[in-house]
Amino acid sequence: MPTSSRAVLLARRPQGLPVLADFAVSDVTVPDPGPGEILVENHYLSVDPGQRGLMNGGDSYVATYQLGEAVTGRAVGQVVASQDPRLPVGSHVFHRVGWRQHSIVPVAAARPIDVGRAPESSYLGVMGHPGLTSWLGVALVADVQPGDVVLVTSAAGAVGAAAGQLALARGASRVIGSVGSTEKAEYVTAKLGFTDAFDYKTTALADYVAGHVPEGLDVVFDNVGGVQLDQALAATNTHGRLALCGSISTYNGEPYQLANTGRILSQRLRAEGFLVFDHEDKWDRFHAEMAEHLTQGRVSVEETHYRGLDAVPEAFLSLFTGASTGKVLVDVRP
Ligand code: NAP
Repeated sequence: MPTSSRAVLLARRPQGLPVLADFAVSDVTVPDPGPGEILVENHYLSVDPGQRGLMNGGDSYVATYQLGEAVTGRAVGQVVASQDPRLPVGSHVFHRVGWRQHSIVPVAAARPIDVGRAPESSYLGVMGHPGLTSWLGVALVADVQPGDVVLVTSAAGAVGAAAGQLALARGASRVIGSVGSTEKAEYVTAKLGFTDAFDYKTTALADYVAGHVPEGLDVVFDNVGGVQLDQALAATNTHGRLALCGSISTYNGEPYQLANTGRILSQRLRAEGFLVFDHEDKWDRFHAEMAEHLTQGRVSVEETHYRGLDAVPEAFLSLFTGASTGKVLVDVRP
């Protein structure tokens, strides 16, 4: 069993957009698992936009990261030592003690994953929290109906790509993706089946809708916040629904004051924020439905794999530069 292993530490708190020097890779001690604990050899580490806020310290709805300590994050891997018969050696598991090669995890904080049903890495993507988030937003929050015109922001990302395809599967008449490049627009239309897509960096959302969506938006699945959410509010039809999933355009401290919130009242819109953490009871139902979508080819989400623990910071930064597509993972298999 390893007595030490490598981990990514938070070297300093990022100011604005994170840079590589905010992180350090170092050896950390790996204790033996205690009663009720497992030792996991991680295979894939997740980088997620929501981790950015935890790097600021201070209060959050989950514990924030400590300076000089290993960053935690979602991971999947295999149990190599176990002090609990519920997860014996050899089990494949999901947990949240990632950004390191080996993790000590309380069994209560680990979840077995079925790698016979879907690839191991997908349990950090389309079969993991991003997939569950997309499903919650489309099915439970926005309740997409046949014929709806749906806009998805950050549509080539892990959540957005799945959300758009789930909306199509529910019979949406148009699913429009907002993305940050012509390549991503081509990806979501040609590969994922979105009916339309546009590059928000060259065409403002308001202009795209004014020019190409005369019927207006019935549903907005928003991952981005800021100016795109504001312009989407202005373009949403009476009794439209907005699933407020994320706000990545503001995570590095960029201030934005929404101007169009008055339309929530005037157009009787339903704008609802939601957090995947509130829905841990829905994994079985979600996995059954998503596995069926994957088998039938109705949903597929690209994964961008970085290789090796040293690549974790670069993979994380790519979330904010748009350099990656789909679910961004780091393959740390030995
Ligand atoms: P993601 O969308 O894959 O995030 C990376 C992408 O965001 C980038 O490739 C980039 O795509 C886009 N982006 C980055 N900065 C941007 C900016 N300033 N303006 C517009 N787009 C920008 O991440 P994800 O994991 O799928 O998560 C999507 C959103 O959902 C995030 O906001 C995340 O925090 C949130 N989330 C919420 C929950 C929940 O429980 N509510 C759960 C998981 C995730 P382009 O190249 O297209 O710009």
